[in-house]
Amino acid sequence: MANEQLKEDIINYAKTIGIDKIGFASANPFAEMKARLKVQQDAGYSSGFEKGTIEERTEPKLHLNEAESIIAIAVAYPSRMKDRMSNKRGQRRGNFCRASWGNDYHEVLNERLEQLTAFIAARVPGFRSRSMVDTGELSDRAVAERAGIGWSGKNCMIITPEFGSYVYLGEMITNLPFPSDQPIDDDCGDCTLCIDRCPTGALVAPGRLNAQNCLAFITQTKGFMPDEYRGKIGNQLYGYDNCQVVCPKNRGIDSHLHPELEPDPELVKPELLPLLSLSNREFKNKFGKMAGSWRGKKPIQRNAIIALAHYKEEAAVDELIRLMNEDPRPVIRGTAAWAIGKIARSDSYQAIRTAEAKETDPEVLAEMKKGLAYEQVMT
Ligand code: SF4
Repeated sequence: MANEQLKEDIINYAKTIGIDKIGFASANPFAEMKARLKVQQDAGYSSGFEKGTIEERTEPKLHLNEAESIIAIAVAYPSRMKDRMSNKRGQRRGNFCRASWGNDYHEVLNERLEQLTAFIAARVPGFRSRSMVDTGELSDRAVAERAGIGWSGKNCMIITPEFGSYVYLGEMITNLPFPSDQPIDDDCGDCTLCIDRCPTGALVAPGRLNAQNCLAFITQTKGFMPDEYRGKIGNQLYGYDNCQVVCPKNRGIDSHLHPELEPDPELVKPELLPLLSLSNREFKNKFGKMAGSWRGKKPIQRNAIIALAHYKEEAAVDELIRLMNEDPRPVIRGTAAWAIGKIARSDSYQAIRTAEAKETDPEVLAEMKKGLAYEQVMT
């Protein structure tokens, strides 16, 4: 078979540049996935963050017309922080999901893929490739599954025997034919924990996600958060990884292999109140290196307000009143008004009524009504 020695050399080199697992697969179209994506799209289960058409997402040759094989890579990330942060009344903290710990994994993996490209290009004249990490058209998970990196769990994550599902994935389409690796057998067995514990029922069937209902997606939207999710996100600021935390295949797995993927506790569990007054520049300076900052500060601030309401943090009410009266963004004014009502400090309802008298945005006014409705609940 062609390129067997080169494959060995690539595997050995990959280990030296911080790639924890590597697999090789054919670049044939992902025919089965094409049918599944169509069903998902027709059901309205897509997130809207997906890039490209269904054809572009399932046909490697559309990205490299001489595509012969795909190299899949995985880089393991930690699941536990070394230092625990206190989360006490008056100084409540929010939470970024594990996939946002450390430096943005898109950059980290792209850098590794660039090194791998240079390694192959130096050995093979005429080598051509196209690399992707998450935001490319191809599904990282479908490639990783075909290349034997892991099996596709009922929680829709790739689960590796070595690192559980705590791995970042990326791939390189190449014009070289490599011997393919075998996919790994599905090892979920009878377990259904991720489906049973999903707070919104977003895992509608094994391996089938309604992204519109998934809290990880909901934390990234920019509009008002629908009421039914506000009580469920708790203190989550970005992403949601409970379906990984409950997975028995992740039990005891905590890989600290790459300093650049180590979490800074002050960034991944930041105090909530100071988040509300950050300027765009301050937000970028502080959180800009994290994957979780890609949607800008508004969704994070909206979620921080919901988290403060979740904790009924009375110390935050003055700042929330300021936002309700002064913030130019209706989502922030309205969410603040709702939170002030939910926290129910003695001056909450008077403050909402005063702001209501001069508010003109219908969506903000609707949130103010929801905030005031907590007064009736209290009495
Ligand atoms: Fe599979 Fe159970 Fe993990 Fe879900 S929780 S992915 S069913 S092993």
